[in-house]
Amino acid sequence: MSTKNTDALSRLTNALKVLPNVGPKTAQRMAYELLQHKRAGAEELVAAIQAALLQVHHCRLCNTFCEGELCAICADKTRDAKRLMIVQMPVDVASMESANCHDGLYFVLMGQVNPTQGADLQAIALDKLVTRLQEYEVEEIIIATNFTAEGDATAYVLSQLLTDFPAKITRLARGMPLGGELEYVDAGTLAQAVYERRNIK
Ligand SMILES: [Zn+2]
Repeated sequence: MSTKNTDALSRLTNALKVLPNVGPKTAQRMAYELLQHKRAGAEELVAAIQAALLQVHHCRLCNTFCEGELCAICADKTRDAKRLMIVQMPVDVASMESANCHDGLYFVLMGQVNPTQGADLQAIALDKLVTRLQEYEVEEIIIATNFTAEGDATAYVLSQLLTDFPAKITRLARGMPLGGELEYVDAGTLAQAVYERRNIK
């Protein structure tokens, strides 16, 4: 094997380690699999990643991933723009939508505050949230972060930040299993948690 080939293989293995939960051994196994048995799949993977990098951006209003200026939910005029639900990730929007329990709009933080790592606020899109709330007045802000240590820390940061805004602030009821991440909670339990949300302010 020439040095050049070895370099390309190492480069691929290293690049694969960018994926979550992929260490050196898994990355090597993936690289071998792609090159040995999945060459067509690998071509599609390259094309799909390139297209996504070019086309996928953040929605101007809610910060979720979308391909236009606004996502389908923010562009939907039939939704109740006076109620804004704050969630951690796009998958949480999907969970809420399939539970059919929120007809307002969303804001997606794209992260969470980690209380054991100095609660770095850069991990969530707070500036964009503040701008959103300054531009469009809402009557109720529903904090729908996960029921985990990180979700609780994030909810705390949000409740502190949002006290100055003239809106009612609520959080999902704790009807969910402890350590519950919204994406793993069934639709019925999720809907219940939304209906029974409690006032923070
Ligand atoms: Zn949006």
